[in-house]
Amino acid sequence: MSEKIDLQIELLQHYPWLPSLKELYHHIASKDPHLFISELFSEKADSIKQRFLKLFANAFENRESFDHFPINESNINFYLVLKILVYILNTDAITNRVANLYSKTMYKELSQENDYYLYQICQDLNLDVKYYQNSIQYRIRIIKDKKELSKTHFRIYFIDFLKLTSNLQDEYRKLVNNPISEGYIFILKQNLVRLLQEYVRGKILEIKGKEDQDITNLRETLLKIPHFKDLYEHIKNLWELKKEEFEYSIEIEFKDGERMDHIFPPCIIHILRQAQEGSNLTHTERLFLVFFLHSLKYPIKNIVDVFSTLPDFDREKTTYQVNFAKNKGYTPHSCETLKSLNLCKASEYSDELCLKGYYSKKHGEERKIKHPLFYVQYMHFKSSNKQYKNTAKPKKEKRDAKS
Ligand code: SF4
Repeated sequence: MSEKIDLQIELLQHYPWLPSLKELYHHIASKDPHLFISELFSEKADSIKQRFLKLFANAFENRESFDHFPINESNINFYLVLKILVYILNTDAITNRVANLYSKTMYKELSQENDYYLYQICQDLNLDVKYYQNSIQYRIRIIKDKKELSKTHFRIYFIDFLKLTSNLQDEYRKLVNNPISEGYIFILKQNLVRLLQEYVRGKILEIKGKEDQDITNLRETLLKIPHFKDLYEHIKNLWELKKEEFEYSIEIEFKDGERMDHIFPPCIIHILRQAQEGSNLTHTERLFLVFFLHSLKYPIKNIVDVFSTLPDFDREKTTYQVNFAKNKGYTPHSCETLKSLNLCKASEYSDELCLKGYYSKKHGEERKIKHPLFYVQYMHFKSSNKQYKNTAKPKKEKRDAKS
């Protein structure tokens, strides 16, 4: 293999969005998505899932970068699966957040890149960029009697510059504000990297606006792969939770000696009752209950105690499993998932909030409950509001009595 190809492979493993991926990793890039995902998820499914959950959690929190970044062939797989996931999630707000996070991460990586490799990356992208091993001077400015020389290693053809800056609004990226000679703009490394970041963002955003039927078909096919389905549902749960974080987003967590079950939704109440009655719980019910209680920061001992009435209870084993679930940091299932698992008990308990939804002042419309944790937030908000009104009222009555 020639030195040039070795370099390209290294760069591709670091930056899998480069066009030569199709050629040099043809065996992966052109594989049928179902086959590709099944093979990948048949090994190391757990570590792959953890990496994706971290990325999506960071994206949903609008974080600036994502550190979990091995540079090897797994990074190519990661990029391809990421695009597939974003495609089948088919939600513009998710696509935007992932595109921002991924491209910002790339900005960080590219900023630390060797100048010559940066030039190679531009070549791979078919950008007309000139590279100068020894920096060239392009401007002299006199500031307070001091000469300031501007130097760079790069020039970019103005057409390519315009293409890459078409979505950028900043004033200094306008052509008139950039020194140009013979059609080539003198560009500093950090500005060139910023343009590449924009290219990467565009690569993820281009997924948007595809045919719904194609997406549905691919989603149905891929969700037949159990580990992939599990990952997909966890991402959806994370998103449902994020979406609901708005007017009722109060930190609610376990406080010693304070009961919370009066604000729990029917799906949880039902499982707790079954446990209290000593009935057996299915694996999914147990998982959901553990994830739910972990989200409210229940102490491990209290969660384990909930299971102590079950016929097959083993304290040591349950403590291990509850700890294990905590370390995974999974969020509880969304209403959609619970409905599909037959675990939604809204009708059975004739629960008004679950059945009818609520009026969102923020959005000015009726909305449905989409996540059991949101149910808790909403009920907590309502009950603290009621308490506030009840404590506020006597004061008014006192004032009235005086007047
Ligand atoms: S609507 Fe959601 S919160 Fe209410 S019972 Fe069903 S799954 Fe639980």
